[in-house]
Amino acid sequence: MNKTVGTIWNETLEFIRDNVDEQCYATWFIPIKPVKNQGSVLTVQVPSKFFYEYLEENYIQLLKAGITKSLGEGAKLVYSIVLENTYDNSNPPTMKLPSSGRRKHKPQSVHMPVALANEKSIKNPFVIPGLQKLNIDSQLNPNYTFENFIEGDCNRLARSAGMAVGKSPGGTAFNPLMLYGGVGLGKTHLAHAIGVEIKDNYQEKTVLYVSAEKFTQQFIDSIRNNTKNDFVHFYQMIDVLVIDDVQSFSGKEKTQDVFFEIFNHLHQNGKQIILTSDRAPVELQGMEQRLLSRFKWGLSADLQKPGLETRVAILGKKLYNDGIEVDDDIVEFIAYSINSNVRELEGALISILAQSSLNKKEITMELVKSMVDKFVKSTTREISIDFIQKVVCDYFDMPLELLKSKTRKREIVQARQLSMYFSKQLTKNSLASIGQQCGNKDHATVLHACRTVNNLKETDKRFKTYVDDLQKRLTLA
Ligand code: ADP
Ligand code: MG
Repeated sequence: MNKTVGTIWNETLEFIRDNVDEQCYATWFIPIKPVKNQGSVLTVQVPSKFFYEYLEENYIQLLKAGITKSLGEGAKLVYSIVLENTYDNSNPPTMKLPSSGRRKHKPQSVHMPVALANEKSIKNPFVIPGLQKLNIDSQLNPNYTFENFIEGDCNRLARSAGMAVGKSPGGTAFNPLMLYGGVGLGKTHLAHAIGVEIKDNYQEKTVLYVSAEKFTQQFIDSIRNNTKNDFVHFYQMIDVLVIDDVQSFSGKEKTQDVFFEIFNHLHQNGKQIILTSDRAPVELQGMEQRLLSRFKWGLSADLQKPGLETRVAILGKKLYNDGIEVDDDIVEFIAYSINSNVRELEGALISILAQSSLNKKEITMELVKSMVDKFVKSTTREISIDFIQKVVCDYFDMPLELLKSKTRKREIVQARQLSMYFSKQLTKNSLASIGQQCGNKDHATVLHACRTVNNLKETDKRFKTYVDDLQKRLTLA
C-alpha cells in the first residue's frame, strides 16, 4: 500500500515530536513542508539554506530515523530550498543529499581575503599598554534578556537562532548572525540578550556591544589620533562582537574596510559576530560587495511586526515585571490599538501608567481609550537621513550621487544644506553623523548648513518655499 507524501511526513513528524522539546519542534520542524515522494525518496521544502544546514548539523540522525520508520530501510531525503533574495542566488535551489552520514556544509568556500595578507605586521594585541582583555566593559543592558523577550511567530527563527548562538558562540552555522527588521521590533534587545546569555554561560569570554555609529566614530578618532592599529587590535581581541545598526556603515568606505579586516580576523578565529540592520542585507545600499557577501555567510533572520497575541503577551510581561495589575480587556485594547511596533506599544503603556500614577487615577478603560487616542495621533513615523535625502533629491530632480559628491555648484550645495538641515530637525542623529552621511562632511559643515538655511528662509522668498514644501513632504509622508 503506497502512503501519500502527507501521511509519510505526518508519521515522521510524530516520531520527531516525541524526541525533541516543543520549542525546537515548532522552530525547526513545523516550517518544513513535504513536497513529494518517489519510491524511497522523500522531498521536503525548507525555508532557507541555513535552515537546511542547521537541520543537517543538528537533526539529521533524528530525521533519518523518523523517515526510515515511515518509509522503510533505504529511505532517502532530498531538500528543496526556498530561494530567498537575501542569499546568493548562485546556489542551485535543490541540493541532493544522501540521508546517511553527517556532512558539514559551509555556506561558501572560505578563502583568504586579500586584506589579511599583511597580517605579519599586526602586533600582539595583548601587549598594547592600557588594553587588558579582562577589563573590557561589555556595554550590555542586563534587562535585555531572553527571559524578557517574548516569543511569537514574528521572531521565532531569530530568537531561537539567537539562543543557539548564546549557548555556543562561534560554534553554530550562524556566524555572523544577522538580525534585521524595522524600527522598534526588538533587534537591539535580542542582540543584547545573546550577549547577556553568553556572558552568563562563559564568564571568560570578552563580549562587546557597540553601535555601528559609535564604531565609526571611534575609527575616525583613531585616524585623527594616529592610533588606528590600536583600534584594530582592540576589536580583534573580542570573542563576541555585537554591532548594532550596520546600515549606518552605508557609504562609509574606510569604515567598511576596517570592519572587513576585523570581521575576517574574528571569523577565522572562530569568534562570534552578531549584526543588526534595519533592512535585509540585499537591500543595504552603499555597502561594499565583499562585505555584503560576508553578511550572508551565516544566518540572516528577520524580525517582523508582532501579531495581536504576541502584543498582549509583551504588555503582560512588562506589567508583570513592574508589578502592576491591569484588567485583561484593557491590555487587549491597548494591544489591539497599537500595532506598529513594540517600541510604540511600550511607549503607550508607559504614558498610560504615568498618567494614572500622576493623577492618582485608576487605570480604567475610559482613561486608556483617551490616552491611546492621543498616542496614535501624535506618534509620527521615524524619519531616516536616507529618506530625507531621497525626498530632497526628488524635489530638485537631482541624482543622489551629486548630493553626496564634493561638487560646490550652488544648487547642489543648497540641496545638500537642506538635507543636513532637515536631518538635524527630524532625526536624532548627531551633527557628525549627519555630515558623514551627507557627503562625508564634518560637524562644523552641518552646523554651518543649519545656520545658512535658517538665514535664507528669513531673507529669500523662493528659498522659504523650498523649505516649506520639503517640510510638508517629509512630515506628511
Ligand atoms: P529595534 O532595535 O529593532 O529598533 P528594540 O530592540 O530597541 O528595537 O526594541 C524596542 C523596545 O521593544 C525595547 O524596549 C524592547 O525591550 C521591546 N521589545 C521588542 N521586542 C520585544 C519582545 N519580543 N518582547 C518584549 N519586549 C520587546
Ligand atoms: Mg535598535
